[in-house]
Amino acid sequence: MVEIKHTLCPSCSVGCGVSIITDGNDIGTFPYKRHPVNEGKNCLNGRNSIEIYKNRITDAIVSNSQTDLDKAIDEVSKVLKSKDSDKITVICSGNNTNEEIEAIKSFADTNNFNLIVYADNMADFDEPAGYDEVESSSKVFVIGDILYENPLVGRRIVHAKQNGAEIIANDKKTKSVTFNIADECSNMAVEDFIDNIAGKLDDTSVIVINYVDSFKDFDHVADAAKAAGAKLLVMYSKCNTKGALSAADAKSADEMTEMLSGTDVLLVFNDDVADEFDFDFKSVPTLISFVPCINETAKISQIVIPVKSWLENEGSFTNAMGDVQQFAPAAAISEDILSEIEIIGQIQEKL
Ligand code: SF4
Repeated sequence: MVEIKHTLCPSCSVGCGVSIITDGNDIGTFPYKRHPVNEGKNCLNGRNSIEIYKNRITDAIVSNSQTDLDKAIDEVSKVLKSKDSDKITVICSGNNTNEEIEAIKSFADTNNFNLIVYADNMADFDEPAGYDEVESSSKVFVIGDILYENPLVGRRIVHAKQNGAEIIANDKKTKSVTFNIADECSNMAVEDFIDNIAGKLDDTSVIVINYVDSFKDFDHVADAAKAAGAKLLVMYSKCNTKGALSAADAKSADEMTEMLSGTDVLLVFNDDVADEFDFDFKSVPTLISFVPCINETAKISQIVIPVKSWLENEGSFTNAMGDVQQFAPAAAISEDILSEIEIIGQIQEKL
């Protein structure tokens, strides 16, 4: 029997709705027609977000051998009990739900473990611009290729242009889809771009940004927006980075490198830091991954614990404009897999 369920797209922080269609054998996506964020559209990344979950893992792995979950959880607790808490670090990412983030933070705080939330050198920002405010701004300053990387917010920038807004875009790339609709384009450092536009920024402006060159840059952008009364919309690379940042302050790349260098045991919750962050993760004595599908970090982890995927999970994500959106399980790929919250509970009982 064909079933259709609604959920949220996990592939960027816009927070689009997506429909999941299953017939018992196959599984696919199509746009969620009545969702207020994307109004019946999903980009290619969103439509393909299902592909990775077709290769999900169901068995725990300890030292490259499959094992049952209870033994792997015993092994995790043994490792954690054998080390000083200040040598144990937990990485929590924007791939986790708000409820998982709360459980991960509480687990780290209870046991005095270090906690890292990393957002590509970006941080949280109070009162972000709403997507409708992007459309109604008279000047839109864009840092990054929003039309290509966050297309359903890019669409709002196109609407702003149709409404008569001036679009001024900056990117580190020389070829950018956003440049195609911009009135002015540049390839400046972010700091220089902000200094360059300072005289034009006012309370009818919005800055939409999806990268910075350094942690210091982020404050520079945020300060410039506040000083001019302009709005700021920060597009994070992960669906719930804004939720993660409301639980813990972002670390800079330098802070993260320093913390990782002093870590003996690293627990990574649903993130692929080995692929995304420039650090020799093989130098960490014990790496433990909690993941729905094998990624580069899991491949070099001594212990891998399977967790429920976004498709099987429930909870909430906070999108880039700060809206908390609930979602329910959309598919049951593996009935026996536990959620991160259940796994954390079992580990904590053994500590
Ligand atoms: S814009 Fe982002 S949230 Fe929307 S469908 Fe594309 S990847 Fe998913």
